[in-house]
Amino acid sequence: MTSIYRINYHLRAHKRDPLIEFIKGMLLTPFVLHATPSTAMVDQAPSSTLPVRDNSSGSASHATPYMTDTCTSLAETQPTEKSDCDSSSASHDTLPFVLRRNSDAIRANEQRYAEIMGDVEALIAEHITMQEKGLEKYSRLRRLVPTIGTFFTPLPLRDAFLYSNAKYAIASRKYIPPSFNEIRRTLNTAQVWASAPHLKFITFDGDMTLYPDGQTFEEHSHLVGLIIRLLQADLTVAIVTAAGYTTETARYEARISGLLKGFADANLSPEQLSRFYVMGGECNYLFQCGVDCGLHYIPENEYSSHQVWSDHDLQSFLDVAELNLWQCVKDMKLDAKVLRKPKAVGLVPYSPLNREQLDECALSTQQCLLQYNRVSTPDQGRIPFCAFNGGNDVWVDIGNKLIGVQMLQEHLHFSPKETVHVGDQFLSTGNDIATRTACCTCWIINPEETQGILEELLQRLS
Ligand SMILES: [Mg+2]
Repeated sequence: MTSIYRINYHLRAHKRDPLIEFIKGMLLTPFVLHATPSTAMVDQAPSSTLPVRDNSSGSASHATPYMTDTCTSLAETQPTEKSDCDSSSASHDTLPFVLRRNSDAIRANEQRYAEIMGDVEALIAEHITMQEKGLEKYSRLRRLVPTIGTFFTPLPLRDAFLYSNAKYAIASRKYIPPSFNEIRRTLNTAQVWASAPHLKFITFDGDMTLYPDGQTFEEHSHLVGLIIRLLQADLTVAIVTAAGYTTETARYEARISGLLKGFADANLSPEQLSRFYVMGGECNYLFQCGVDCGLHYIPENEYSSHQVWSDHDLQSFLDVAELNLWQCVKDMKLDAKVLRKPKAVGLVPYSPLNREQLDECALSTQQCLLQYNRVSTPDQGRIPFCAFNGGNDVWVDIGNKLIGVQMLQEHLHFSPKETVHVGDQFLSTGNDIATRTACCTCWIINPEETQGILEELLQRLS
């Protein structure tokens, strides 16, 4: 059993985040052993506080008992077990029992979860101390999570968990343990709180982070006003996107037309406008916002001394990627075409492909290019690259967002600690994961979560 589990885990590594899985595993132990807010069999359901619909009048009455949810909410508001579900005034119309959650047990669950999050917080703090001495490979966290990377700030995970728990009552549950997404969101909250005092530069992915996949940044999006407030708070803002339209300014402007219109309507100053950038093609085409609220291309030699790859090397590299993608189309009988661009090659389906097909294309091409480069990670070798599942398509880009963010940091003089990147692709088949080496990160899954993060951030900035 163990070996089968290990093999399966290995094969699913591209769907998992090692730190989140580690925290999830730690929280699972108290969930299994202790998170049993004692289910008491109450032989008469409470009635005095249970609103129900009176069908004859359409108004609420207090005649028919409800089940678990109401008792949970009562447990949160009442101090003692005895008063959690007062059955003294039970109606004659009752069910045989209700599942009662004990408020003391809920508080004990919260305390245990919070303690574990505090312990992970301490492990991260120790890892940072070891990092500063160049000894991070000997940290306890590295031994527990061998693939753990660099942390640029401590993370107040205990307080962030208590904040999440106050909103979502995670510790009140006895059948569903803390989930991957809840831990991911708690990490985001902790990162936003930790970064707020130092933050000078915030970068965003485009698709699924600022707007739905393949669509444009609409004028009515709540994110327009929030990004304007970031610029007004003296932050520098950049969109670092895979979208690569070479130097065709109009196509980038069309994708973010709603945001640019918002800038014009907000009467931002020239200085504020000049702090907005778009980096296209991961790291290949930089644009800056001008006083006309339009984008203006900046040639690479004006902001970077980054090595330029020879055209021969670059085209040979893309030839290999293109060949592999065509092979994927043939082997998996995909209804798709392969598109070649000056610094990218992509597999674009005619009809939707499923996640497994897209992941197989991304991972097989990644593996093929690693072998071609004779390296073990995509940011090594003569030509760094990014082969990723874009959600509906697969792309291989020359360069990656690590290079994109680092070039902007060098050009604008911001440190990793002063930078946060917000994106939705942080699995090994994604293209935001590369930024973790350059800056703090927040992993969201849709524009609504980006909005939530920015609202939390702006509260802290002010
Ligand atoms: Mg995205």
